[in-house]
Amino acid sequence: MSRCAAARAACAARAMGLALALAALAPGARAWGDEGHEIIASIAYWHLGAAARAEVDAVLQADPDELTAPDFVARSTWADRWRDSDRYASRERYEATRRWHYADVEIDSAPRPAKPDLLRSLDAACGGHPPLPAGVRASAGPAEACVVDKVEQFAAEWRSPSTPAPERLLALKFLIHFVGDLHQPLHLADDHDTGGNEVALVQRGRHGAANLHAYWDTGLVRRLGRRPERVAQSLDEAITVEQARTWSAGGPADWALDSFALARDVAYDWRGAVRVSADSGKPALRLGDAYEARALPVVREQLAKAGIRLAVLLEAGAK
Ligand SMILES: [Zn+2]
Repeated sequence: MSRCAAARAACAARAMGLALALAALAPGARAWGDEGHEIIASIAYWHLGAAARAEVDAVLQADPDELTAPDFVARSTWADRWRDSDRYASRERYEATRRWHYADVEIDSAPRPAKPDLLRSLDAACGGHPPLPAGVRASAGPAEACVVDKVEQFAAEWRSPSTPAPERLLALKFLIHFVGDLHQPLHLADDHDTGGNEVALVQRGRHGAANLHAYWDTGLVRRLGRRPERVAQSLDEAITVEQARTWSAGGPADWALDSFALARDVAYDWRGAVRVSADSGKPALRLGDAYEARALPVVREQLAKAGIRLAVLLEAGAK
């Protein structure tokens, strides 16, 4: 279904080459893991029209920032690198941007799945959506903002012809990443366990994930295949015209509630899991095959949805 289907190999090679080389050197996993973000960015890139693709390439090409390689797919992990670049030093970038990657919507704050109730829970998780003061760029916006607010703010900057070029570049780099985070269910939900970070898992050898959050960020994504480019291709080929149309509707708040519902109904559904004692002596879970069988289709669809929606937001801002 990709608009780039005929030239996919060339597109993929161009977009992924540097990203894969960089990923091989990257330490540890982060939100969605690098793989998840690269899969999402690849799908988005293939769904951009020629004009939008040329524009994002031109904007990124002028960027000397060396935190990642400069191409579209590699820049999908830039916001994590930026956040962590002074994490063990001054922590200025870390504290200014770390909350922008998620919104902890409490599972028990919305017992009824009615949209107004869910929106109230989202509002609370986003600290009441602190507004961007007049004249303040989104990249310098409040540290208390959540991922929904940042997607909206950076998308608006990307769309606006009056956004100065340096800010428009930052808006693009943050947007490529945050649309991805918005689709990781455990970035939009919490059960008083920091989005599953405090739920220990015992099968880390199999999944490479020590806790539930990491399992969704990285473990499940790796189960889809070892090479992000190949996974992106297979997910993209399965996207129907009807799915792309349906997923393109709504906006960041709708997509956030979608992710929250998947966390509540799938990520926190521990049917079949075995509660065991981990090495530390604390309780931990062995999730099992039934859990994974329920989770994998959700991960596949969220990666594909995020790719389509990122393309939609970028197309809207193309000149
Ligand atoms: Zn992130």
